[in-house]
Amino acid sequence: MATENDDHSLGMDQPISRRDYLNSTLLATGSALLAGVCPLDLLAANPEAWTGYGGVGDYASSNGNTWDVMTDGHKIRDRAFEPLPSDITDTGEQFDCVVVGGGISGLAAALFFKRQTGGKRRCLVLENHAIFGGEARRNEFVVDGQRLIAHQGSAMFFPPLTGTFLAEFYDSIGINNWQFPYQTWGGASKPLLPARTPYFEGGPESAFFFGPKFGQPQGKWVVDPWGTRLAAAPIPAEAKRELLGMQSAKPEPKPKEHGDAISRRLDSMTLEQHLMEQYGLSRDTVRTYLSPVAGGGSGLGADALSAYADYAADVLLPWDYGKGAQMFPGGNAGVARHIVKAVIPDAFAGAATMADICRSSVNFAALDRAGQDTRVRLRCTTVAVQPEREGRVRVVYLRGGRLFSVRAQGVVMAGGSWTAKHIVRNLPAPQRDAYAQFYRAPCLMANVAVRNWRFLYKMGITGCQWFEGIGNYTAVRRTATLGGEVAPEISPDSPVVLTLKILFSYPGQPIGQQVSQGRAELFATPFSGYERRIREQFAIMFGSAGLDVRRDIAGIILNRWGHAYLAPQPGFFFGKDGQPGPGDVLRNNPFGRIAFANSDVAGIMDHRTSILEAKRAVGQIV
Ligand SMILES: Cc1cc2nc3c(=O)[nH]c(=O)nc-3n(C[C@H](O)[C@H](O)[C@H](O)COP(=O)(O)OP(=O)(O)OC[C@H]3O[C@@H](n4cnc5c(N)ncnc54)[C@H](O)[C@@H]3O)c2cc1C
Repeated sequence: MATENDDHSLGMDQPISRRDYLNSTLLATGSALLAGVCPLDLLAANPEAWTGYGGVGDYASSNGNTWDVMTDGHKIRDRAFEPLPSDITDTGEQFDCVVVGGGISGLAAALFFKRQTGGKRRCLVLENHAIFGGEARRNEFVVDGQRLIAHQGSAMFFPPLTGTFLAEFYDSIGINNWQFPYQTWGGASKPLLPARTPYFEGGPESAFFFGPKFGQPQGKWVVDPWGTRLAAAPIPAEAKRELLGMQSAKPEPKPKEHGDAISRRLDSMTLEQHLMEQYGLSRDTVRTYLSPVAGGGSGLGADALSAYADYAADVLLPWDYGKGAQMFPGGNAGVARHIVKAVIPDAFAGAATMADICRSSVNFAALDRAGQDTRVRLRCTTVAVQPEREGRVRVVYLRGGRLFSVRAQGVVMAGGSWTAKHIVRNLPAPQRDAYAQFYRAPCLMANVAVRNWRFLYKMGITGCQWFEGIGNYTAVRRTATLGGEVAPEISPDSPVVLTLKILFSYPGQPIGQQVSQGRAELFATPFSGYERRIREQFAIMFGSAGLDVRRDIAGIILNRWGHAYLAPQPGFFFGKDGQPGPGDVLRNNPFGRIAFANSDVAGIMDHRTSILEAKRAVGQIV
């Protein structure tokens, strides 16, 4: 365990990232918390020691799954509302449509409903967090007077192909410039131009870090690892040969259509088997160097995922690759904000332009006003969706510890499989069995605000990857300058946010065990436990290049996503033994007036599937 001296040099007592809950909560819960892992019931006495700093602005009390959301969700899992108690307050409200979940899918469902019914019918969105957006939300910091905006989860926006449904959809909500403006280089010295998204892209301005696991107790950096053909990488010659072979391998035929022979074959094996078969890699090479980043888009390592998961998005959702992926300052929070503006124009001041919507604060009072066609009700965890006679559905939600009910003519379940499977009452066996095949992997997105990134600049890099410790990669990002809040230029002296995506994979274990073990680890670790590990990791990797974690880390926000990614196992897409895949069962079979959306039914964690599944689900109930 770290000593007090270590704590001081790591900056564990520095103010901005920990605020004033430091003394009260840490001292109250004592050494278990300091050890970094503790049971949830101990943390329950001090939820702030779990949630940690949330940043500034509209999203400050909604970083990832907050304590209240997590604990209310677990009451559903533990069947606390089965049977429903009698003391439920009936609000007397009747809606034509109730949407469970206010992520991009739920918000898009509300918009499609409004459009398909000419704005003449009433729709209510119930969202359990303090702000809409789901995995598409922002973190905001103010560092040395500069506003920094980062993504909590969903990041990349893919410019659509002209003439497609998505192109029209984006255009209709005011996202009409698919080549965003970004910060330009403002340093006096040799320019290093960071990428526009936070994903590690490799290239001459990138590096690999190798530490004690590779016999490098002092740490070793290998800059431009692929350009230098891993020459200086302290890894076994065999692994080097395999990885270089993979880089230069002739591409194999890829699936062309969803459902063609290649896609079906890929869905019958794990991504790990596919990588081993296609590139001649050993299992150890896949697990040491590629997992969980390979397949990271689905949360788990390659050993657990269907090989088709790596191809499905490109097969089903081709985009304008020439423009390159774009990113709103706060990732796809930008998309969520545009949809909200389209359903409730007063939700943001100003016009439905990219600049105004990016810049404006949320007008929370406008979200749930009586009389408007669409209402978004926050901090409400739906606990039961109960079909009644005459096609009506009773929807019961928990808000502030009390239960309320409304009635609906139709319901779109857009909250995701992990709650939907528990709350829809009397769900028939096919849909119930289908949901039992959904595994959602956890993920921790840690946003670390640093006062400058001179330490990376000094090494000549803007991004890096590592293979031990916490996280796997990070990159400096040029932020889109929409809305004018973001500094127009970036230099090594600019404060920036470095994002660590922390995945929980336990290669070789059954998929169900991997996701629940990961969730237990994610939830049982207090903020301070992660903060210490992140500070240590940064000190080990960047200390020699000049980063002083005590002085230079200005803030850390943790976004805990207990059920971040649908991790499709082999057979998810096309089924097994002649049976349809579980996503298709739900898409094709609404239960009476209840239809199923969310990106997870597509098996592709992408905001575009959230939108497309919402459209289909609304069509099924209107
Ligand atoms: C770390 C991460 C990175 C990602 N990166 C990208 C990316 O770069 N590009 C991209 O396109 N996609 C990305 N995604 C995928 C992302 O899932 C989608 O983009 C999209 O945001 C998902 O929207 P959704 O509405 O389908 O689901 P969600 O965003 O999960 O929204 C569902 C909402 O419903 C709420 N809810 C659930 N149950 C209930 C209940 N019972 N009552 C009330 N509310 C409930 C949830 O809390 C949540 O707020 C990423 C996802 C993660 C986790």
